[in-house]
Amino acid sequence: MKLIFLGTGGSWPSKTRNVPSIAIKYESEVILFDCGEGTQRQFMHSTLSFMQISRIFISHFHGDHFLGLPGLIQSMYLNERSDPLEIYGPKGAEHIISNLLKLGYFTPSYDIIIQDVEDGQTLKFDKYSVSACSVNHNVPTLAYALEEFERPGLFNKPRALELGIPEGPLFGRLQKGESIDLDGKEITPDMVMGPPRRGRKFVYSGDTRPSKSLIKLASDCDVLVHDSTFDAELEQKANDYGHSSTKQAAEIAAKAGAKQLFLVHISPRYEDPELLESQAQTVFPNTKTASDLMEVEIKLMK
Ligand SMILES: [Zn+2]
Ligand SMILES: [Zn+2]
Repeated sequence: MKLIFLGTGGSWPSKTRNVPSIAIKYESEVILFDCGEGTQRQFMHSTLSFMQISRIFISHFHGDHFLGLPGLIQSMYLNERSDPLEIYGPKGAEHIISNLLKLGYFTPSYDIIIQDVEDGQTLKFDKYSVSACSVNHNVPTLAYALEEFERPGLFNKPRALELGIPEGPLFGRLQKGESIDLDGKEITPDMVMGPPRRGRKFVYSGDTRPSKSLIKLASDCDVLVHDSTFDAELEQKANDYGHSSTKQAAEIAAKAGAKQLFLVHISPRYEDPELLESQAQTVFPNTKTASDLMEVEIKLMK
């Protein structure tokens, strides 16, 4: 599972940061969170292809978070996409996005499935789920948590040998969850497999003031990507506009028990990301200011 920051700026693009878009590469698919203007071109500078996108989650309908959709959808069509595309967003998503699709002379060649997501809803897919919660912005806004399903425990080879199981196909059967018969004695998988391992958890805040609901959604996550529009001196201004400061983002990460925090939605006024990072690190040491095209491997816990 890899996290790729395509756009880490807020409000409008700057020379160094595009507007918000964050991709998760998971096996053969790309899951996209927000799609600011120019996201498809950011893909071309990255290691990903926009044709790999399976589903897109929009946090809210402020222009910097969704205006990349029409161009991206049309480019997929021109590149002969045939796979369906799923798009999710807060209340009103179905209405707003279906109107976007009517812009100009364009008829998609593939299915576009649009769904409104409610506060507290969990969507289940093949290998992971995505849960949403409302956060505290000026318009309906959702934060999202992508959680990989629990994975099987590790095979305890020394224990298996101790039980007299010969190395070979019987190991494979136990690892697949089958019981085996060993000279009339039943060996069940739980005798040689460790406890199930929890999957990876990634959380994206969208635009928000510090939000209690997000602390719960982000509980024990591996990675939290949080709004950090202004530095701590401008905290009041950040909150007035519906955003968080560096320190407030760090406080949320600490309260949630996150393992790592990335600051995003950085105001175009900041040219030096160090200031933001060091302010947040006084509260939550494992913080980085994300930059466009930064890639982070989200590793499995042992
Ligand atoms: Zn924004
Ligand atoms: Zn916004």
